[in-house]
Amino acid sequence: MSSQLNTPIYSGKIDPSQLSVAFRELSLCARSGTCVGVCPEGALSIGPDYYPQLNEDACTECGLCRKVCPGQDVSFENLNELSFNDVDVSDNFDGRVEEVHVGYATNETFRYGGAGGGVVTALLHDLLKNGDVDGCIVTRMRKDKPWLGESFIARTEEDLAASQGSRYTVIPFNAILKDVLASDGKYAIAALPCHLHGLRFALREIPELREKLPWIVGLFCGGALETYVVPELLETKKIKPDEIQDFQFRGGDWPGKMRAIMKDGEIRDLHYSNYKDGAYNYFIGLYMPDRCQTCLDGSNLFSDISISDAWTRDKQGNYKFAYHSRILVRNNHGKALLEKAVARGSLHAQNLGNDKAYQTHKQQTRRKGLNAPLRVERRRQSGIAVPFYGLPAAEATAQEKLTERAVSSLLWFGRFRFVRFNLIRFLTSSAAIPLINIRLWLKKRKYTKTR
Ligand SMILES: Cc1cc2nc3c(=O)[nH]c(=O)nc-3n(C[C@H](O)[C@H](O)[C@H](O)COP(=O)(O)OP(=O)(O)OC[C@H]3O[C@@H](n4cnc5c(N)ncnc54)[C@H](O)[C@@H]3O)c2cc1C
Repeated sequence: MSSQLNTPIYSGKIDPSQLSVAFRELSLCARSGTCVGVCPEGALSIGPDYYPQLNEDACTECGLCRKVCPGQDVSFENLNELSFNDVDVSDNFDGRVEEVHVGYATNETFRYGGAGGGVVTALLHDLLKNGDVDGCIVTRMRKDKPWLGESFIARTEEDLAASQGSRYTVIPFNAILKDVLASDGKYAIAALPCHLHGLRFALREIPELREKLPWIVGLFCGGALETYVVPELLETKKIKPDEIQDFQFRGGDWPGKMRAIMKDGEIRDLHYSNYKDGAYNYFIGLYMPDRCQTCLDGSNLFSDISISDAWTRDKQGNYKFAYHSRILVRNNHGKALLEKAVARGSLHAQNLGNDKAYQTHKQQTRRKGLNAPLRVERRRQSGIAVPFYGLPAAEATAQEKLTERAVSSLLWFGRFRFVRFNLIRFLTSSAAIPLINIRLWLKKRKYTKTR
């Protein structure tokens, strides 16, 4: 499995300026699937590595796929206006926030089956069971290729339970818009920032979609992982992809760990410690796609309500909120969704007010709020294609610039299979347990010192 970009994915018969960015500059494609989902001619489909592919004979050059593409032109001012009728973009990592809560699903299957506290699923289920929507657009691992994810329409409580958990891999989520447009009814959606950017553009272009998608829940995102991450991790453990029936990025006890569910039902843990302390940083440093490296939206800035992990630690450095999710309410629509779910008993939520003791996501704020903008600006100045956000260039100290360089170098090394494969083989082996322990010790020490 390669990570080489810029291979031609169509012959060039169609004017590329009418198409989504993948057909001009593959490295800018977010693989959100939006172009595939809206194409009125069905000329686009999901191709290798989840990039779109074009049937040139069916394309009429209508330009819709270009208009909804969230790869290149992602003006935050435009998105802010589309989402909140206001061009004033908040300049902090969390974005526009009216209320902050932590919470959990009151349904225990959802709470303990979720990545955090099952809040996303509780919000969706509340709408479904009360007849507010006919289905919910969510994800699962594929039956035919369980190392890859897909989006689908959940219509039952069981479907929703099966969709739970985080799939930290690229999924062309919005390709499902094709099915939404082809069916009657209303739907709720839970999506990552790049999916939501594409969705906001699609809602602008296709009025019919506005009726069909009244409820949008956003997920935080520190970056997805390449589509080849699962096969490579399995290979380090000498497991063949066709030996598994499912794959979990955060299975088992909170906060969960990467696990392979074998065809005979055996569950195999694929690393030590948990996802947060024993895998996340390694994988995100080696498998983050190029486009995610230049994404500046980590908190789903343009959602009505945004859900994240609740990583807050206590004074001893221990997590305070196991099996909880953090909830950012951004506008009245998001507030109505949350209040409805709480009033109907689907969700328990605690309003945190402005209490600074609950602040979290420091590392992610640095990654998305500083490193990524610096990377975008550095690449832009070197003539490399980058997304356009319409934001002022980031200011930083020499040390911050050096840190961004170091992080970017590691990401660059991740392009080479030999490097990432051997690093991951070591980092997920028992030989790396001391590293995990040192990291945990440093983290606790830092916490107890700064509090
Ligand atoms: C790629 C990715 C990166 C993330 N990065 C961060 C982060 O840096 N910091 C942070 O706090 N939180 C992050 N999250 C969100 C976090 O992991 C949880 O999804 C969130 O806290 C909700 O938990 P829950 O228990 O309320 O949701 P659950 O009830 O477990 O529901 C999870 C929902 O997420 C959907 N989902 C899972 N994977 C995908 C995907 N690839 N694309 C679209 N939808 C998906 C499922 O379909 C389901 O609807 C990330 C999630 C993903 C998928």
